[in-house]
Amino acid sequence: MKIVFLGPPGSGKGTYSSRLVPKLGIPHISTGDLFRENIKNETALGKKVKEIIDAGKLVPDEVTAEMLKERIEKPDAKKGFILDGFPRTMSQVEALDKLTKIDIVINLILPDHILIKKIAARRQCRKCGDIYNLADINEDGIHMPPLLPKVEGKCDKCGGEIYQRDDDKEEIVMSRLDVYKKQTAPLIEYYRGKNLLKDVPVVGGPDIMVPNIIKVLETISS
Ligand SMILES: [Zn+2]
Repeated sequence: MKIVFLGPPGSGKGTYSSRLVPKLGIPHISTGDLFRENIKNETALGKKVKEIIDAGKLVPDEVTAEMLKERIEKPDAKKGFILDGFPRTMSQVEALDKLTKIDIVINLILPDHILIKKIAARRQCRKCGDIYNLADINEDGIHMPPLLPKVEGKCDKCGGEIYQRDDDKEEIVMSRLDVYKKQTAPLIEYYRGKNLLKDVPVVGGPDIMVPNIIKVLETISS
């Protein structure tokens, strides 16, 4: 099954995606990971991306799409994949449509005031990109327990340092949410029009949401 995850920053896309991997037996592909892997392995595309990022520029859609093409052609993605962080714009949707046919788009929905709390409390591993969250949210029928590392400040997976990304700082979260809404509104309409979009309200942490998402996926696989 080829799945796209849409959801504002802080909606838990990355966390749910990685937890779905062992249950669905398909890889989680995020553009952040793709960039990191290609740069680390010094592939031709990785070198190109590093130059672009080092120059403080945005990686062009063609380059991201090319990286994605290579990734989804790998044997582990034969049965499908979970795409997170791509597409973000209509031109990326067009690029993706040229590469493959998506089966379902999960659109995570969460109110702004909760997103803001969650993003400001988000921490990431500097080495492997794993996500943690310090916020303990229990309001408006939404209960999201914190996702704390076992050892404070250290990643469970690789022992790397856990830090707050600059773009997670509260003062820029609002504008990131605005940008997200403006950018994705046309995508949501597009996928809804193709009957691929499933709205999934976020009501809890991964223990609640992962089974919820699986139920939604089952509606199309059966
Ligand atoms: Zn790590």
